[in-house]
Amino acid sequence: MRLVIFGRQGAGKGTQSKLLAEHFGVPHISTGDIFRAAISAGTEIGLAAKAIMDRGDLVPDDVLRGIVAERLAQSDAADGWLLDGFPRTPTQADDLDQIADPPLDLAINLEVPEDVVVERISSRRVCKAEGHIYTANDPSARSGICEVDGSAVVQRDDDTESAVRHRLEVYAEQTEPLLARYGESNRLVTVDGAGAVADVAGRVVTGINDGLAR
Ligand code: AMP
Repeated sequence: MRLVIFGRQGAGKGTQSKLLAEHFGVPHISTGDIFRAAISAGTEIGLAAKAIMDRGDLVPDDVLRGIVAERLAQSDAADGWLLDGFPRTPTQADDLDQIADPPLDLAINLEVPEDVVVERISSRRVCKAEGHIYTANDPSARSGICEVDGSAVVQRDDDTESAVRHRLEVYAEQTEPLLARYGESNRLVTVDGAGAVADVAGRVVTGINDGLAR
């Protein structure tokens, strides 16, 4: 099973991806998580990406190509993967066509209206170690300590209002047009991402199974 998940920031991609990856037994590969880990580790890529990410801009395509090609070549990705946050530009979609062998099976579009996502992002909190996601009112967010791994729970540096607005613009301009491309090759599944996490997860799995059967 080779999948990518699309959706504007705050649509629930990270949360749904973790559930989906578990359900289908494939690794969840989030390019944003890879960059955040690189920043924490202080690597060269992390240092270069930090300022770009904090502004809400995109890291250059050639950097992504190398990272994704290397990650998909690892043994845990031999039988499938779920990509979250890649591709984000037409060049990245071309690169994925070249890298993915066997090719991508389906693209999932998690659809949530813009006013709902702005609200969700402003209350989003994440843990530093593994990116577990909380809302501001969850006990882990209130205590500042992740209930799963004990690391600090913080607001992402790029979840500020101005960076969020810019990221939504970048998504609309550069990423959303890619959906048509997957639609044309009959590989697009669109799912309503509003509502409770478990309900959305059920709709996503049904959508994927229907998409694979057609
Ligand atoms: P995300 O966690 O997917 O929202 O990604 C956070 C940030 O990481 C983005 O706003 C970009 O700055 C950077 N990033 C993640 N994935 C990509 C990508 N495929 N192309 C360019 N930049 C990316």
